[in-house]
Amino acid sequence: MGQKYVDCRELSGDIHCSATLVANSDDELMEVVIKHAINVHGLANTTDFRKKISTHFKEGSPPM
Ligand SMILES: [Zn+2]
Repeated sequence: MGQKYVDCRELSGDIHCSATLVANSDDELMEVVIKHAINVHGLANTTDFRKKISTHFKEGSPPM
């Protein structure tokens, strides 16, 4: 199966974050992104934020 990823800069709006988060499934990616958002950006784990994250999921491998 293909990978999914999220470009954190797009998601968080933090231009200083160059993290790209990668996982093999939606659920796994959601957990990875939530942890990153809380630990690195101090964001809250809310239903709205989870919805927003899922709109940023992309298929395939991240561009290097
Ligand atoms: Zn980030």
